[in-house]
Amino acid sequence: KAYFDDDANLDELKNKTVAVIGYGNQGRSQALNMRDSGVNVIVGNIEDGASWTQGKKDGFDVYSISEASKRADILFLLIPDEIMPSVYEEDIAPYIEDGNVINFASGYNVHFGFIELPETVDIVLIAPRMIGKGVRDRFVSGEGFPSLVAVHQDSTGKAKTIMLALAKAIGTTKIGAFESSFEEEAVVDLFGEQVMGGFKLYNLRMAYELLVEEYGFSPEAVLLELYLSGEGIETLRNAQEVGIWGQLRYHSTTSQYGHQTRGKYAASDASRALLRSIVENIKSGEFSKEWKTEQLTGYPVFNRLWKDNLKHPFIKSEQDLLKILNANKRKG
Ligand code: NDP
Repeated sequence: KAYFDDDANLDELKNKTVAVIGYGNQGRSQALNMRDSGVNVIVGNIEDGASWTQGKKDGFDVYSISEASKRADILFLLIPDEIMPSVYEEDIAPYIEDGNVINFASGYNVHFGFIELPETVDIVLIAPRMIGKGVRDRFVSGEGFPSLVAVHQDSTGKAKTIMLALAKAIGTTKIGAFESSFEEEAVVDLFGEQVMGGFKLYNLRMAYELLVEEYGFSPEAVLLELYLSGEGIETLRNAQEVGIWGQLRYHSTTSQYGHQTRGKYAASDASRALLRSIVENIKSGEFSKEWKTEQLTGYPVFNRLWKDNLKHPFIKSEQDLLKILNANKRKG
């Protein structure tokens, strides 16, 4: 089910103070959008952090996180997911009052149990499917952006009404706020990152190893074909208009044939089983537990992967080609 502007009423937010905790990617955009929608918004940030200054510059009343939490009826928790549990515990939880509304932009911490909230508050989710910059730009342009929304706990009986009003205020009901759940948002988001994002990184690199290192084709030809030409972006943009299969019609018939015959190999029983194991690993909480351990032990795997991956010859070829492409882009 999707909700649109007509399903929401901004009057529900009258006489309420919304504290945006964290004035970063999402925080700044959502705060500006809500203020433009007539909502009374204050900002909570670590004192004298870079975003503190930005919030003041943008004309908000900026407070420490604990002070903003005290003053608010509705809290938007928009700081990085990894630090949210400890900040919540220390600076937010002591000031939460019965009947407050706590809004998340990601289901991660609530679903995987890293943050436990009292039973006396409303817990809602408005998760934009859009980077922070797009949340603001598309509000200003009037385009809107989609998001997933959910009510996790309704203690006041008004959680959904308030959630929809907030969704309208940040500009997402313009195009569609889609009913979801904290679990669905968290699991699907991680799946997208790991499979659609992560597999792509290693697939591209494997293609480079094969075509450049094994078969001797030039890195330029290979990298332009794989992604650096920007053709992929155009294809995706087109897919947004006409669908992923529909955009295929804009390719040559040779390409259409190749896509559909060879592409099928990626959907083998073995890859389906692999994807299933990834969903299971996420759903069972194994992934989030592993990531928590990683954080608590000082990011050993994370740092090693970054170091090793940047050493790969693929990176040097890519950066060399980017230099050429960007130099000519600047010349116009
Ligand atoms: P950011 O990384 O942009 O958050 C930065 C904010 O967090 C700044 O205000 C920063 O303060 C503050 N901050 C950093 N470290 C600390 C700390 N130790 N204690 C207190 N505050 C701190 O976050 P995002 O906007 O990317 O993400 C916010 C939420 O939105 C997350 O739940 C995320 O999953 C979700 N989300 C993000 C999307 C995105 O596109 N980024 C898309 C959809 C959902 P300062 O700068 O002053 O140091």
